[in-house]
Parts: sequence; C-alpha cells; structure tokens
Amino acid sequence: MTVPNVKLNNGTSIPQLGFGVWQVPDDGARDAVAEALRVGYRSIDTAKVYENEAGTGRAIAESGLSRDEVFLTTKLWNSDQGFDETLRAFDGSLERLGTDYVDLYLIHWPVPEYDRFVDTFKAFQRIRDEGRAKAIGVSNFRVEDLRRVIDETGETPAVNQIELHPGLPQDELRAFHAEHGIATEAWSPLGQGESLKDPAITEIAAAHGVTPAQAILRWHLQLGNVVIPKSVTPARIAENFDAFGFALTADEVARITAISGDRIGPNPAEFN
Ligand code: NAD
Repeated sequence: MTVPNVKLNNGTSIPQLGFGVWQVPDDGARDAVAEALRVGYRSIDTAKVYENEAGTGRAIAESGLSRDEVFLTTKLWNSDQGFDETLRAFDGSLERLGTDYVDLYLIHWPVPEYDRFVDTFKAFQRIRDEGRAKAIGVSNFRVEDLRRVIDETGETPAVNQIELHPGLPQDELRAFHAEHGIATEAWSPLGQGESLKDPAITEIAAAHGVTPAQAILRWHLQLGNVVIPKSVTPARIAENFDAFGFALTADEVARITAISGDRIGPNPAEFN
C-alpha cells in the first residue's frame, strides 16, 4: 500500500496516514509501534507528555528500517515553553527517542495565559536551523495564535495538529491553513472511537463494504488532512492502514462533514 505524502512548507513531506501513541504505556508503545511499522506505517506521532518516547524510539531502532524511512514527530510539553526551557526539553526528547533528529517538532498547546509560544517557536527555529528538527509546527493553535507566530517570527508553522473528526470538522482552521500553506493534521481522527457509531458513518461504510473506521479515515484523506489514528490491537492497526482502495462521493464527504458534535479534548483557549 502506498500512502500519499503531504508536502510541507519546508520542502519535506509527511505521510498522510500515520500512527499515534497517546495513552499507550512505554512498553506497549514499543510493541504497537513495532506492529505499525511491520504493517507499513512510516509516520509515528508521540510527545514528551505521553511518556513513551523511549519505547517509540526503541521500536524504530529495532525495526530494521533506516532512520530516514520513518517520519518521527514529538511535541514540547506546556511546562517546557520558553526559549531556554525549550532547548533543554528538546535535548531530553532526542535522548529518550535515541535519535539525533526528529522530522517534526510541535508546540503541544498554545497556553495563551503563559504568553510564551512566540519565544518557544523562536527556539524551534534554532533547533531546525541546527538540523535537529527537519520541520517545526504547532498543535492546538487557534487562528489568533497562528497569526501571532506568523507576524512575530516571520515564519509560518509547517503543521497545525488539531482535534478534528466528523463531530468537529474545524472548517475555519482548515480554511486558514489552506490559505497559509499549513498542513492540517487531525488528532483523535476517529473521535476516540465515538464517531464510529454514528448512523451516517455506518451507512456510508456499509455502502462501500468497508468498516466505519476506514470510512472516517477516507473522509479525512479526501479532505486533505494528515491523520494519525491510534490502536494497540493488531487487527485494528492493519484495518486503519487500509483506507485507500475506495473513494467516497462528494455527497458522502459532505454528509460526514455535516455530522454535528463537539470537542472531546480541552479547549485550547484555556488549557494549560
Ligand atoms: P483516535 O480517534 O485515533 O481513536 C483511538 C481509539 O479508537 C482507540 O483507542 C480505540 O478505542 C478506537 N479504535 C481505533 N481504531 C479502531 C478500529 N479500527 N475499530 C474500532 N475502534 C477503533 O484517538 P486518539 O488516540 O485520541 O488520537 C490519535 C492520536 O492523535 C493520538 O494517539 C496522539 O498521537 C494524537 N493526539 C494528539 C493530541 C494533541 O493535543 N496534539 C491530543 C490527542 C491525541
């Protein structure tokens, strides 16, 4: 199966379908990432706060793949924001991951009340200039946060990783990203499993002879989103990687986008 790539504004590319490891303990992450790489995933999304960078790094090292065959993302935690703090935290992530670079480094949350994300992004620019992060981006940033980074650093983040699923299609942010060349990466792309039960989803999935998870992932792919579904179950890891042999109609895409719902995760305006 060939996963399409999405070109980033730094010239590198991210596989459109990757594998996330939030809420997976370190040992379990080692097993789950090993399985994902065996199935064919070539993009892995972790974060310092997940406490599984070590297991993730070990699975990549033990996979038999060369480091440049895997797109590796990690994230800076909120309490590490600030210029010097970021440089220190990044060293810690690299050490735990057992690698000398990441493909993408993200500011995990904006934490507007700290007002430190601009300085943090300036440290990201230094890390990128040193070649230790190929691309730099953000996560959970609102339009106003993105505007500040762009205005105050002169650089547009390569990626904004945001909560995005059929219950929260994020039209405003996706439009802003498209206008500014920011790749949209969807976290909780399956709504943490909740979206799978929606009657519109089960109906559309049945019409194509695919599973609800595959129908939702196909919707993301057709919208142009990068997706990073998570599972620790081998059959589901394989199922989620198999979202390419069919296409939704424009009406089906619109029907899924129209599903109403709400956020599952915290509100980025307040979360610290
Ligand atoms: P998800 O939408 O990927 O859902 C995962 C859950 O859905 C699984 O735990 C399982 O219960 C179920 N599931 C998965 N595949 C299934 C299948 N084929 N059939 C039936 N059920 C299935 O949710 P997520 O883990 O929250 O998000 C994915 C990744 O996004 C995370 O692992 C993490 O890497 C990233 N993430 C980032 C942030 C952020 O703030 N940047 C926040 C949350 C998650």
